Amino acid sequence: MRILVVEDEEPITAALERGLTKLGYAVDTAYDGAEALEKAAVTRYDVICLDLNLPRIDGVEVCRRLRAAGYTGGIIMLTARSAIRERVEGLDSGADDYLVKPFAFSELAARIRALTRRETTLREPVLRTKGLELDPNTNKVRRNGVEIHLTPKEFALLYYLARNAGRAVPQEELLEHLWDENTNPFTQTVKVHMNNLRRKINEGFDEPLIETIRGKGYVL
Ligand code: CA
Repeated sequence: MRILVVEDEEPITAALERGLTKLGYAVDTAYDGAEALEKAAVTRYDVICLDLNLPRIDGVEVCRRLRAAGYTGGIIMLTARSAIRERVEGLDSGADDYLVKPFAFSELAARIRALTRRETTLREPVLRTKGLELDPNTNKVRRNGVEIHLTPKEFALLYYLARNAGRAVPQEELLEHLWDENTNPFTQTVKVHMNNLRRKINEGFDEPLIETIRGKGYVL
């Protein structure tokens, strides 16, 4: 899951980025409306947390343009204004939900979960393939009925490979979908997480589940 946080107040942006990263999301940030639109044009975000009061292009206009450009992911408006007219305007422009500042981080996290859960239950509830059972609502994994404990990042990796089962997924694609923009593309981070994931899902089983195809990527 990749999230874009759009907020011009640096301490808030930093706090949200830290909190959401800790929950296992890949998090990018933008500090004004124009930057948000530029980033959303090149990266497919699952959720965009969008402040209403932004320099250059305000939140309502950003929201309108995102939807006009075909963005179908979730949008949560963050607003310091509690006037009903502002909230209605936000929802009318295409936002799915809104939060009035100041809000508790746990509330934002719950709204993001609700939004992404709605999407996953619409499209793919529990994923079953190759003896694996992956539940994106709880991050629970079973292999032949045996529960395996994964970190949020390991789960995200496995879920992505399971959705693309049978196809070799290049490392760059995993980096793009599951890591944020600050990750060095030459880092070993994918490899390290992949090694840990393999160790966990293969432990106690004869058949390894993830294969590396040289020059092509990883395949489940
Ligand atoms: Ca603001």
